[in-house]
Amino acid sequence: MGRVDFDAIVVGARVAGAATALYLARRGYSVLLLDRDRFPSPTLSTHLFFTDTLDALRELGALERVLAVDAPRLRWLRFPYVAAPFPEYGGLDFALCVRREVFDTILLQHAAAQPEITVQTGTEVTGLIREDGRVAGVRYRARRGKTEGEAHARIVIGADGRHSFVARAAGAAEYDLVAPLFAWYYAYLLDVPLDDPPSAAAFSGPFPELGAEYAAAFIFPADSGLTLVGFGVEHAAFARFRRNVRTNFFAGLRSLPEAWERVGQGRLASRILGTGQLPNLFRTAWGPGWALVGDAGCHKDPHTAQGMGDAVRSARLLAAALDCWWRGEASEVEALAWYQRERDADLRPMYDFTTFRLQAQVGEEIWERFNQLTWEDPNLASRRVAAMTHAVHPAEVYTPDAVRRAVGMPSAL
Ligand SMILES: Cc1cc2nc3c(=O)[nH]c(=O)nc-3n(C[C@H](O)[C@H](O)[C@H](O)COP(=O)(O)OP(=O)(O)OC[C@H]3O[C@@H](n4cnc5c(N)ncnc54)[C@H](O)[C@@H]3O)c2cc1C
Repeated sequence: MGRVDFDAIVVGARVAGAATALYLARRGYSVLLLDRDRFPSPTLSTHLFFTDTLDALRELGALERVLAVDAPRLRWLRFPYVAAPFPEYGGLDFALCVRREVFDTILLQHAAAQPEITVQTGTEVTGLIREDGRVAGVRYRARRGKTEGEAHARIVIGADGRHSFVARAAGAAEYDLVAPLFAWYYAYLLDVPLDDPPSAAAFSGPFPELGAEYAAAFIFPADSGLTLVGFGVEHAAFARFRRNVRTNFFAGLRSLPEAWERVGQGRLASRILGTGQLPNLFRTAWGPGWALVGDAGCHKDPHTAQGMGDAVRSARLLAAALDCWWRGEASEVEALAWYQRERDADLRPMYDFTTFRLQAQVGEEIWERFNQLTWEDPNLASRRVAAMTHAVHPAEVYTPDAVRRAVGMPSAL
């Protein structure tokens, strides 16, 4: 290896990048954490997160600051296919919905306070440096002042989101692609009454005005007295939806009476933002001198609210793999191949559930029975919520065998 300024360079300093930097710093490694954005700044994302994220925040020493934000503790998940209280996990039994400009800034400030981490925001990575057949660093441009620079490290980590520059520049392969499923739009409303107990709620139905057989609204009480309200349509209706976002957003909410009953009293307090560019894919997690974490490595439609939890759990795995390599317990290839295997095993069940691959694997009849039983059996409902929050491994609930077992069929059939 040539010149090395840092153990790791992490490109992207939001949930995946800041968490990876913090997990590495806890093990004593030096990290350069770069982001082209300046903070606090929002990003295009809603932000319901579960106890797995809270648990990681506790490990990283950031939990107290996140809990000090005035977001209601959400006790129930009430989604169109399951309703149950959030299970207790590591002593925590609630979900939170903290705006990303608040959440990401807390995490980034916490990272910046660690002596092992150097943070540079407003800095865009524009190229990868290659030496001896491996990635050895990055070229970057500071947006203000237009200064350019280079930094070298033992590994360059792409935590730069679903359109990852690092993935593209490194040539990461994509696999298990599923075409976009929905377009999601959201806004913040004031004066929306809290439900009792406070819950993360979603409601679904058709939206015939746009010819959509499936549409859904969600209501997530957030910080600062705001309620995050969203509406999404199946992807086939995206082009029609975006022709008049505001009208369709409110018409969509009105078309779902349970949602409108609550949000109809609210006052719009933000722009309505959203996108239909929501690919479903895994990317190869590593190569010589580089690795991917968070959305850069696996992206899926957000309707199951997995992205932030997935990012912190993958960050934990990646830091463990790098530590094994750097302490000489495994080669780079062994350590990073382990990371990819563990990451995929961790993400696969919820990926398949989210993208309807699981439904296709078990067949409509069994899937309908599984959903029916979820409403009849509170134990199954609790297990499904526990899987979504990773209080149990999702493979215990969201694999073809687990679904067959749940409906009383022998698992191998
Ligand atoms: C509409 C929508 C709703 C969602 N709702 C939820 C939800 O409720 N719950 C949930 O858990 N997840 C949700 N998600 C998913 C969630 O947003 C992502 O999973 C999560 O943000 C992934 O974090 P990340 O750190 O990997 O990437 P990002 O949050 O995308 O951060 C990537 C960072 O990389 C930086 N970057 C990119 N390129 C460069 C470069 N070349 N140089 C320097 N910096 C760079 C960007 O500026 C950015 O700050 C939603 C997503 C969308 C789009």
